[in-house]
Amino acid sequence: MGKFSWLSEQGYRVLIDHLQDGIFVIEDGKFTFVNQCLADKLGYPVEGLIGRSFVDVIADEDKSMVTERYRARVAGGKEPEFYDLHIATAQGTTICCSMSVGLTKNQAGATVAVGSVRDVTLQRAAQAELQASKEELKSIFDHLPDIFYRTNMQGIVTKISPACYDILGYRPEEMLGTVLSGYYKAPEERQKISQAIIDGGGKATRVEAALKHKNGSTVWISTSAIIRRDPEGQSVFIEGLARDVSEHKQIEDQLIALSRTDGLTGVYNRSYFMDKSEEVISMMRRYQRPASMMIADLDHFKTINDNYGHHAGDLALRAFTDACRREIREPDILGRLGGEEFGLMLPETAIQQAQVLAERIRKAVATIEIPFENRTIGITVSIGVVELSTEDASLDAVMRRADLAMYQAKSRGRNQVVASME
Ligand code: GH3
Ligand code: MG
Ligand code: MG
Repeated sequence: MGKFSWLSEQGYRVLIDHLQDGIFVIEDGKFTFVNQCLADKLGYPVEGLIGRSFVDVIADEDKSMVTERYRARVAGGKEPEFYDLHIATAQGTTICCSMSVGLTKNQAGATVAVGSVRDVTLQRAAQAELQASKEELKSIFDHLPDIFYRTNMQGIVTKISPACYDILGYRPEEMLGTVLSGYYKAPEERQKISQAIIDGGGKATRVEAALKHKNGSTVWISTSAIIRRDPEGQSVFIEGLARDVSEHKQIEDQLIALSRTDGLTGVYNRSYFMDKSEEVISMMRRYQRPASMMIADLDHFKTINDNYGHHAGDLALRAFTDACRREIREPDILGRLGGEEFGLMLPETAIQQAQVLAERIRKAVATIEIPFENRTIGITVSIGVVELSTEDASLDAVMRRADLAMYQAKSRGRNQVVASME
C-alpha cells in the first residue's frame, strides 16, 4: 500500500464504504465481507449478508452460470474475470451488474474471492434500446420501397439501400463508390439536382429525372434530397430518397397524349394543334425562317355520310389522315380542326414547297379507295395554302388566310389546291 500505509484500518473501512461500487469477499461460497454500497444495492443490512451464500443473491436466470464459473475459477480454470450478471435484491427486483473477481488465499491457504460489482442496469437498458432502434432502422432501410442514398460532395455514392436492386437492377455493392450521375440518362441532370439542392437552401423536393436500369430500360424517379453539414456549416454530404415513378409517368404521358389527340384519327386535336402552331410561328419568326400553313376540307363529305352512313364517314376521315401522314415529315404538325377540316403547319417550308406537298396530298387522297360493304368509296379534298408573313398579327390571321384559300379551291370546283401569295 506504500504511500497509504498511514491510513488506519478504520480509514480503509470508511474509504471502502464510500466507494460507488459494491465490494465483497467470498470464502467457501459465503460472504465474509461486504461494503455499505453493496449492502444498499442489494437491500440488506451489512450483517444480513455476512455468512449468506453468494448464490442466494444471484437472480435465478444466472445462478447456474455464476456458480459454474466460480467453481471452475477456484479449480484453476481460465474463466473470465469480468462479466455481467443479474442480482436479486431483498425487495424482489433484479439489477444488472458488471462484476470483476480476483482470487487470493487466506492464511489457512483456502481460496478467497475478492471482487466488486457495479450497477449497469440503466447503461445496459440504454444499450439495448439503442441496439433495438438500430435494428429497427436497419429493417426500415432494408425494406424501404424507395432508394435511400447518400453521396459525398463529389457525387460518389457512400450509402445506398437495397431498393436500388428492385428499381435499377444494381446491387448496393455495385453502386457504392461509383458516381451517382453515371446512372442518369443525362448525367448533367444530376448536377442540376445537386445545384438545385445547394440553391434551394440545402433542400430539393420531388425533382423528376430519367435513370438507366441495368437492363437498359428507362426508369423515372422522383427525388427529394437534403444537404448534411458539419457543425462548422460545411456541406459534408447529400442524402436523399428516390421513388420509382415510371408507372406514374407512363400513365401521365398517356393522359397528356390523349388530351392532345383526336380520338377518331389519332392526329392532334384543335387545341394542341393551335398550341404547337403558335410555337412554330414564334420560333420561325425569331430565326427569320419560312413556314407555311395548310387547311384541308373534305369535299361533299355530307354525301358520304348520307349515302353510306356515319361509320363510312369515320373510315374516310381515317383514310384521309393516313394518307397525309404518309406524305409529311417529322416536324410537320397535323391536326383536326373540327368535323372534316384539318390543319397542317409546315415549319421551314416556303409556299412553293408547301404547294407541291399539298398537291401530293390532294392526288394521294383522290386515289384512296375505302372498302365498304362490297364497294369502294372515293374521296377528294380541297386545300388552301399560305405562307407565314410578317404582316400576320397572329396564328388566327394565318389560318383565316388559309381558310379563304381553301374556300377558293371549293368554289373553283373542289379537289384542288389554292396557294395564296397574299
Ligand atoms: P364541302 O365540299 O362544301 O366541304 O361539303 P361538305 O358536305 O363536306 O360540307 P359540310 O361542312 O356542310 O359538311 C361536313 C359534314 O361532316 C357534316 C358532318 O355531318 C360531317 N362530320 C363532321 N364530323 C364528322 C365525324 O366525326 N364523322 C363523320 N362521319 N362525319 C362527320
Ligand atoms: Mg367539307
Ligand atoms: Mg367542312
